[in-house]
Amino acid sequence: MRRRRSGEKGAHSPGRSMSGMTDCLFCRIVAGEIPATVVADTDGVLAFRDIDPKAPHHILVIPKAHYTNAADMAAAEPMLAGEVLAAAGRIAESEGFAADGYRLMFNTGGHGGQEVFHAHLHVLAGKPLGPMLAV
Ligand code: AMP
Ligand code: ZN
Repeated sequence: MRRRRSGEKGAHSPGRSMSGMTDCLFCRIVAGEIPATVVADTDGVLAFRDIDPKAPHHILVIPKAHYTNAADMAAAEPMLAGEVLAAAGRIAESEGFAADGYRLMFNTGGHGGQEVFHAHLHVLAGKPLGPMLAV
Protein backbone atom coordinates (compact mmCIF):
# COMPACT_ATOMS: atom_id res chain seq x y z
CA MET A 1 0.00 0.00 0.00
CA ARG A 2 1.29 3.41 -0.95
CA ARG A 3 1.87 5.73 1.99
CA ARG A 4 1.13 9.43 2.08
CA ARG A 5 4.09 11.76 1.90
CA SER A 6 4.48 15.18 3.47
CA GLY A 7 2.39 17.72 1.63
CA GLU A 8 -0.15 15.20 0.36
CA LYS A 9 -3.74 15.11 1.55
CA GLY A 10 -3.91 13.85 5.12
CA ALA A 11 -0.40 14.85 6.11
CA HIS A 12 0.17 18.26 7.59
CA SER A 13 2.47 20.53 5.68
CA PRO A 14 5.39 21.74 7.80
CA GLY A 15 5.58 24.94 5.74
CA ARG A 16 8.24 26.05 3.34
CA SER A 17 10.54 29.05 3.38
CA MET A 18 11.25 31.40 0.45
CA SER A 19 14.02 29.04 -0.66
CA GLY A 20 11.50 26.22 -0.93
CA MET A 21 13.08 24.26 1.92
CA THR A 22 10.89 23.00 4.75
CA ASP A 23 11.52 24.59 8.13
CA CYS A 24 10.91 21.28 9.92
CA LEU A 25 14.21 19.67 10.97
CA PHE A 26 12.93 16.08 10.73
CA CYS A 27 11.23 16.66 7.36
CA ARG A 28 14.62 17.89 6.16
CA ILE A 29 16.23 14.67 7.44
CA VAL A 30 13.55 12.65 5.59
CA ALA A 31 14.29 14.70 2.44
CA GLY A 32 18.03 14.03 2.78
CA GLU A 33 18.77 17.73 3.22
CA ILE A 34 20.32 17.15 6.67
CA PRO A 35 22.46 14.05 7.35
CA ALA A 36 21.50 11.44 9.91
CA THR A 37 22.73 8.02 10.93
CA VAL A 38 19.83 5.95 9.66
CA VAL A 39 19.12 2.59 11.29
CA ALA A 40 15.81 1.75 9.57
CA ASP A 41 14.01 3.06 6.49
CA THR A 42 10.62 1.86 5.25
CA ASP A 43 7.95 3.41 3.02
CA GLY A 44 6.36 5.25 5.92
CA VAL A 45 8.97 5.37 8.68
CA LEU A 46 12.55 6.52 9.20
CA ALA A 47 14.71 5.77 12.25
CA PHE A 48 18.02 7.44 13.02
CA ARG A 49 20.40 7.92 15.95
CA ASP A 50 19.73 10.89 18.23
CA ILE A 51 22.45 13.52 17.77
CA ASP A 52 22.67 14.04 21.57
CA PRO A 53 22.09 10.59 23.06
CA LYS A 54 20.59 10.42 26.59
CA ALA A 55 21.38 6.67 26.93
CA PRO A 56 23.92 4.25 25.39
CA HIS A 57 21.35 3.57 22.67
CA HIS A 58 19.12 6.49 21.68
CA ILE A 59 17.23 6.20 18.42
CA LEU A 60 14.38 8.33 17.07
CA VAL A 61 11.64 6.67 15.01
CA ILE A 62 9.56 9.09 12.95
CA PRO A 63 6.77 8.97 10.41
CA LYS A 64 8.03 10.32 7.07
CA ALA A 65 4.83 12.35 6.79
CA HIS A 66 4.78 15.44 8.93
CA TYR A 67 2.58 15.33 12.03
CA THR A 68 3.18 17.78 14.84
CA ASN A 69 3.00 15.14 17.55
CA ALA A 70 2.17 11.50 18.21
CA ALA A 71 -1.47 12.16 19.09
CA ASP A 72 -2.10 13.98 15.80
CA MET A 73 -0.40 11.15 13.90
CA ALA A 74 -2.44 8.46 15.68
CA ALA A 75 -5.71 10.34 15.16
CA ALA A 76 -5.08 10.85 11.44
CA GLU A 77 -3.27 7.61 10.59
CA PRO A 78 -3.53 4.93 13.28
CA MET A 79 -1.84 2.38 11.01
CA LEU A 80 1.14 4.69 10.66
CA ALA A 81 1.36 5.07 14.45
CA GLY A 82 1.41 1.27 14.62
CA GLU A 83 4.20 1.16 12.06
CA VAL A 84 6.29 3.54 14.17
CA LEU A 85 5.86 1.28 17.22
CA ALA A 86 6.52 -1.88 15.22
CA ALA A 87 9.70 -0.34 13.78
CA ALA A 88 10.91 0.38 17.32
CA GLY A 89 10.40 -3.28 18.22
CA ARG A 90 12.36 -4.48 15.18
CA ILE A 91 15.16 -2.03 15.94
CA ALA A 92 15.33 -3.29 19.53
CA GLU A 93 15.86 -6.79 18.13
CA SER A 94 18.37 -5.80 15.45
CA GLU A 95 20.37 -3.52 17.79
CA GLY A 96 20.45 -6.29 20.40
CA PHE A 97 18.72 -4.64 23.37
CA ALA A 98 15.26 -6.19 23.13
CA ALA A 99 15.98 -8.87 25.72
CA ASP A 100 17.42 -6.46 28.31
CA GLY A 101 14.59 -3.98 27.80
CA TYR A 102 14.20 -0.42 26.65
CA ARG A 103 12.05 2.68 27.00
CA LEU A 104 9.71 4.15 24.37
CA MET A 105 8.72 7.79 24.82
CA PHE A 106 6.76 10.42 22.87
CA ASN A 107 7.36 13.88 24.31
CA THR A 108 4.29 15.93 23.48
CA GLY A 109 3.98 19.71 23.72
CA GLY A 110 5.87 22.18 25.82
CA HIS A 111 5.29 20.63 29.24
CA GLY A 112 6.14 17.24 27.72
CA GLY A 113 9.58 18.53 26.79
CA GLN A 114 8.98 18.38 23.04
CA GLU A 115 11.51 20.48 21.15
CA VAL A 116 11.09 19.18 17.60
CA PHE A 117 7.49 19.45 16.46
CA HIS A 118 7.49 16.49 14.09
CA ALA A 119 6.20 13.34 15.81
CA HIS A 120 9.06 11.13 16.99
CA LEU A 121 9.37 8.10 19.21
CA HIS A 122 12.43 8.03 21.47
CA VAL A 123 13.92 4.54 21.85
CA LEU A 124 16.27 4.51 24.85
CA ALA A 125 18.31 1.51 25.97
CA GLY A 126 21.68 0.14 27.02
CA LYS A 127 21.55 0.54 30.81
CA PRO A 128 18.92 0.32 33.58
CA LEU A 129 16.86 3.48 33.11
CA GLY A 130 15.07 3.33 36.45
CA PRO A 131 11.34 3.53 37.07
CA MET A 132 10.91 6.90 35.33
CA LEU A 133 12.97 9.66 33.76
CA ALA A 134 13.54 12.78 35.87
CA VAL A 135 10.57 15.13 36.05
P1 AMP B 1 12.15 16.17 21.83
O1 AMP B 1 12.70 16.97 22.97
O2 AMP B 1 11.27 15.01 22.26
O3 AMP B 1 11.49 17.06 20.79
O4 AMP B 1 13.40 15.46 21.17
C1 AMP B 1 14.09 15.97 20.07
C2 AMP B 1 15.33 15.14 19.93
O5 AMP B 1 15.89 15.39 18.66
C3 AMP B 1 16.40 15.44 20.97
O6 AMP B 1 16.70 14.25 21.72
C4 AMP B 1 17.58 15.92 20.13
O7 AMP B 1 18.83 15.51 20.66
C5 AMP B 1 17.27 15.29 18.78
N1 AMP B 1 17.87 15.95 17.63
C6 AMP B 1 17.89 17.29 17.38
N2 AMP B 1 18.50 17.53 16.20
C7 AMP B 1 18.86 16.32 15.69
C8 AMP B 1 19.52 15.89 14.49
N3 AMP B 1 19.93 16.77 13.56
N4 AMP B 1 19.72 14.56 14.32
C9 AMP B 1 19.33 13.68 15.25
N5 AMP B 1 18.68 14.01 16.38
C10 AMP B 1 18.46 15.32 16.61
ZN1 ZN C 1 8.26 17.56 9.74
